Amino acid sequence: MSRVALVTGGSRGIGAAIAVALKEAGYTVAANYAGNDEAAAKFTEETGIKTYKWSVADYDACVEGIAKVEADLGPVEILVNNAGITRDGMFHKMTREQWQEVIDTNLSGVFNMTHPLWNGMRDRKFGRIINISSINGQKGQMGQANYSAAKAGDLGFTKALAQEGAFKGITVNAICPGYIATEMVMAVPEKVREAIISQIPVGRLGEASEIARCVVFLASDDAGFVTGSTISANGGQYFT
Ligand code: NDP
Repeated sequence: MSRVALVTGGSRGIGAAIAVALKEAGYTVAANYAGNDEAAAKFTEETGIKTYKWSVADYDACVEGIAKVEADLGPVEILVNNAGITRDGMFHKMTREQWQEVIDTNLSGVFNMTHPLWNGMRDRKFGRIINISSINGQKGQMGQANYSAAKAGDLGFTKALAQEGAFKGITVNAICPGYIATEMVMAVPEKVREAIISQIPVGRLGEASEIARCVVFLASDDAGFVTGSTISANGGQYFT
């Protein structure tokens, strides 16, 4: 039987590419999403991947949602914490709501999803946790104090948990994408996009499928010796 993978925010953008790549690699895949029913229905129709709606910012909803996925598909062995939002603003104008929403989704969401799955992975002595952080969690980004803090927090979480999971067969890794050609980035004015691209040494935006291939590697049985690591997939824009 194939292993079960759960991708949060898996109905659109990078998460959708990850869900499809995992399915193509032979996993049984479930994709979670927050509220865009239309996009989720279209995704399921096109890919055959079942979608499940709940907010990763809500711990109880995560427990309930995971229980539904496991009842349908079996124990989740691979968790991809991909769901994320931005609420950008310069710090002098940033509201407490902008701060809290991003922390709740991008940082607490990773706890809320990982915590209910952790003991099952420990008991089965196998697990793969893959956290989608960001280049802006590594280097910081003006106008994104909330987002940079949350994404940097995800990296600390990854390194701490990797140490706890190692002797139980659970690996915990992070991927930090640079600018990826998702709807969000393609929607910015062409001039701004050109300015972004001029800062990327490879001379182009990344593709969601390129992040997905990193996930497929980290999810594999072959990657059992890779834990606590961060893959920077950013076209050479930033080195750690
Ligand atoms: P998109 O905005 O295209 O998609 C976000 C996905 O996350 C959607 O499926 C959305 O669901 C879901 N989502 C949002 N909030 C929640 C929530 N509270 N609970 C459950 N699901 C939620 O994002 P991207 O594909 O651009 O980004 C994916 C990840 O990659 C994010 O963590 C982002 O921070 C990170 N990243 C992206 C980069 C980029 O260039 N795009 C660069 C670096 C990192 P719904 O459709 O229902 O809204």
